[in-house]
Amino acid sequence: MRYSISFTEIDYRALTDHLRQPGSTEQAAYLLCSLSVTASESRLLVREVVPVLPEEIISASGSHMEIAPQSFMRAMKRADTEHLSFVFVHSHPEGPASHSPKDDITEPTLFRTAYTRINGKAIHASIVASGVDHPSARVWHLDGTTSPVEVIRVIGDRFRFFHRELQRNASAEIFDRQVRAFGVEIQHVLKTTHVGIVGNGGTGSAVAEQLIRLGVGKLSLFEGQTLDTSNVTRVYGSRLTDVDVPKVQIIQRLAKDIGFGTEVIAFPEHITSLKSAEALRDCDVIFGCTDDEWGRSILSRLAIDYYIPVIDMGVKIDSSEGSIVSVQGRVTTLVPGSACLFCRGRITAEGVRAQVIESCNPSQAEELRHQQYAPELQGNAPAVIAFTTAVASTAIAELLHRLTGFMGAERTSSEVIHFFDQSRMRTNHLSPNTDCFCGDRQRWGLGDQQPFLGMLWQG
Ligand SMILES: [Zn+2]
Ligand SMILES: [Zn+2]
Repeated sequence: MRYSISFTEIDYRALTDHLRQPGSTEQAAYLLCSLSVTASESRLLVREVVPVLPEEIISASGSHMEIAPQSFMRAMKRADTEHLSFVFVHSHPEGPASHSPKDDITEPTLFRTAYTRINGKAIHASIVASGVDHPSARVWHLDGTTSPVEVIRVIGDRFRFFHRELQRNASAEIFDRQVRAFGVEIQHVLKTTHVGIVGNGGTGSAVAEQLIRLGVGKLSLFEGQTLDTSNVTRVYGSRLTDVDVPKVQIIQRLAKDIGFGTEVIAFPEHITSLKSAEALRDCDVIFGCTDDEWGRSILSRLAIDYYIPVIDMGVKIDSSEGSIVSVQGRVTTLVPGSACLFCRGRITAEGVRAQVIESCNPSQAEELRHQQYAPELQGNAPAVIAFTTAVASTAIAELLHRLTGFMGAERTSSEVIHFFDQSRMRTNHLSPNTDCFCGDRQRWGLGDQQPFLGMLWQG
């Protein structure tokens, strides 16, 4: 089992600001976390940062600190009542950057108390954060043993992944031109990152092609459809002879042919199936390349409930009798603190409902359409490789910016819109609507709940 911790940027900044107060004495805080547990990874999702206040500190210096027991007992009581995990964080202003021999002596008692006081299935952890960039963490188990935390994620205007160990990316020669652009660090980050691609058609296959060539280490593909003849004009890696082959298999073959050793996991089902959707929880970042509102509604909730950033994209060609009226493309980044696709009017509850009915109960859908309670189904929409690929490239550039900051520290846009027919681009930044789930802080980082994402599933 692999362990990790995910923060929103807002909470991580509050934590590190508290730990780095003026004066160089040790500081501490507690984190209350929910959980995301899959077969391969347990993720702690930070819901709240509780600073240890000056009056709760009995004594502290640059290399030690003693906290009044009422202080951590109060935090543990809240963890117990709210069914959350307890995480103890402290700083080492004079080093070392990770847990000290002294911590190894004091923490077993603290975490024995945590397991006694906090009922339920929660797991608890401790972090040493000496600087902003080098947090080091371990999970404490019920039996008094520990496991290292492999990655600490911070999700916001930037995506920061603090890995315990970065996987080296094989050949410096292969990635030479990229390293000249971004430095060598980005190659190790990409190699260690697990990216999900939902939808493997025009935009999804272009995203896959680019992620593989960039050197991303692991891809999970989510797509239920097989290739048809009219897809070959824009699906990367596809051939006319692939008709009826599952699209996930085409991307798998593409990765193998390129030969960078990309690990590819294929889920040949749309994410509207529960099993497929639950597997999204293992990703670090997700690209939304599906054109249905139901799938997009799932990704919108996942970004908020699990702090997994979603870079969602779409292309819309308005054409009349073979003549283009307008071509628009959009890349929207979904993270806690940014407006979701519902807030932006990109998807609607009615649109999602219509697709759910269409999929689960086609005869009812037909009846509703007949009575004009539901919109007529869209036939095959126009699609052209130049536009799907351009939008995919914008989405990949968005990931590179969030990882490296190459667009500058001031850049806060969460949506990029291409107006292809006008040779124009526009960006925006929208805050969540107060009455939308994405603006409800109580919902941020909810983690695993019944039913999954608070939605109804077919099975
Ligand atoms: Zn310490
Ligand atoms: Zn919203």
